[in-house]
Amino acid sequence: MTLLFNSDAERGRIFRDAFARELPDLAFSMDPAAVDPQAVRYLLTWTAPADLLRYRNLEIVFSIGAGIDQFRLDSLPEKVKLVRMVEDGIIRMMQEYVTLAVLMLHRNLPAYLDQQERQSWRPIPQKQASSQNVGVLGLGMLGNAVLERLKPFGFMLSGWSRSPREIDGATCYSGQQGLKPFLEKVDILICLLPLTDETRGFLNADLFNALSPGAGLVHTGRGPQLDHEALIEALDSGQLSGAVIDVTDPEPLPPAHAFWSHPKIILTPHIASVTQAETAACAVIDNIKRDRAGLDPVGLVDRTRGY
Ligand code: NAP
Repeated sequence: MTLLFNSDAERGRIFRDAFARELPDLAFSMDPAAVDPQAVRYLLTWTAPADLLRYRNLEIVFSIGAGIDQFRLDSLPEKVKLVRMVEDGIIRMMQEYVTLAVLMLHRNLPAYLDQQERQSWRPIPQKQASSQNVGVLGLGMLGNAVLERLKPFGFMLSGWSRSPREIDGATCYSGQQGLKPFLEKVDILICLLPLTDETRGFLNADLFNALSPGAGLVHTGRGPQLDHEALIEALDSGQLSGAVIDVTDPEPLPPAHAFWSHPKIILTPHIASVTQAETAACAVIDNIKRDRAGLDPVGLVDRTRGY
């Protein structure tokens, strides 16, 4: 029985050592040319390799990242399970990034960076955290973790998901009927939705207009969820006051793209959260142990929902 590791060699060495310690009976390979395709039960990869069907006894594809939108679900055989990465490193990094971004918007950092550029020394009236509503789109692993980390700052917290959720200290909304009442109160919106047919283009002019005037946006979901032109219009009209954008479509953006130089946008190159090899290896090992015990892996993708 073999696990085939299809990612960078540096990470691979950390995985290989962890697998040798924890699952010595499972062969670990980083070389597709050297494995017996019939022996491959588990594949760890970012995208599906073109020759995936040669692994006829494949049982689980583990995504190296938290999202699985880079896979074409209909091209994976029915019997193969797809598992997204659920590991502490990704969670911690997302908590840090979103906290940083929310505080930057709350404390008017985009405006102050612009002022610094123009050598302007002008304090901006500061709203208090207790009067600001921070809302999260997507209340899964990351949305929950981010809300937890934001609690000590004293913001009003809220969130929106597909199915009803309950989170201590946050007002939760769900479904289409819950979207408008959620958005109209939000001063800083965080997108942590997975990319699916339903969420493609979700951050658009209608959504921005439904937010509290002067709201801020933190986008850490996936690039194709954001309508770039609508964002620029909302920022230029003042409907939005600032945006921290980690994901775009395409990535990287072309040199002439307006996001590079817009004074109300802080742009980062899809680094909000990155899989950490040590903790990710533990997560995959635990999932293989669960699989062997007849349990579903943590992070199992529901193909009908698409996430
Ligand atoms: P998750 O645990 O699967 O949670 C997804 C959440 O989104 C759930 O609450 C789900 O609702 C909600 N949702 C999905 N489709 C919806 C819809 N159509 N309408 C309303 N709510 C919907 O995912 P996660 O692990 O938190 O990760 C979320 C996303 O973050 C990933 O898919 C990835 O795109 C992104 N991400 C970005 C980075 C980065 O560096 N920028 C890093 C990691 C992840 P239910 O609760 O009802 O299921």
